[in-house]
Amino acid sequence: MTNKSTPHPLLPNEQERYKPVEAEITCPKCKTKKKIQLRACINVSLHPEEKQQVLDGSFFKYTCKECGEKVSIVYPCLYDDMGQTLMVYLLPGNTEDALEKMNAQQNTWSPDMLKAAMVCTMRAVRNPNELCEKIKIFDNGLDDRYIELTKAFVFSQFTKQNPDIKAVQVLYEKKDGKDGFVIITRDEKTLFAAIPDGLYEEMIRLFEDKLPKKKTACYELIDAKWTAKVLESEIKKQ
Ligand SMILES: [Zn+2]
Repeated sequence: MTNKSTPHPLLPNEQERYKPVEAEITCPKCKTKKKIQLRACINVSLHPEEKQQVLDGSFFKYTCKECGEKVSIVYPCLYDDMGQTLMVYLLPGNTEDALEKMNAQQNTWSPDMLKAAMVCTMRAVRNPNELCEKIKIFDNGLDDRYIELTKAFVFSQFTKQNPDIKAVQVLYEKKDGKDGFVIITRDEKTLFAAIPDGLYEEMIRLFEDKLPKKKTACYELIDAKWTAKVLESEIKKQ
């Protein structure tokens, strides 16, 4: 796939900014080349069907017309849900560097974009799974920072009880009406660990006054590394 264009800041409500990016894809199976259109922005207010496509995984999949091969296509794109005041930038590859560049470009953002960014929850994610996780967290009325802190405690308990299981990803999920985490193991099994009653609320109680109040328009990576930093600074204070 050739897509050399660097991600640029996108302005909500300005249609002309959402022009699709053209890319060429070569099917890994039959080698057929095809020009495809990549949407640089997923605006769920304008295109609610695209939210469903992100959640069911089809948004980042291309099906070869010649041989039917399904190819995953992951590229930088902005998920914009104004209803939830949520903007999530998917930055695959070298996420930390891309994020730094993105935030450094703020001086080129329009006043509208900056205004939107000040009221929105601004997140960066590494892959489509993490994007789905953020969508589900906010759709269920939860705060991803306390969910990440909860995840650290639930996962550490899970590891103690299951020392032989090697997890590769832990993602928030709601299952049978219970909030919890899907644990994807190295041998591609998925397990579910529910959040014990009251633990999420306990995280809010413990950390509410310790987390910075939003005052920037930066995209942030709220992940296991972020959680480790928060917990580490708490330990140092004690
Ligand atoms: Zn093919």
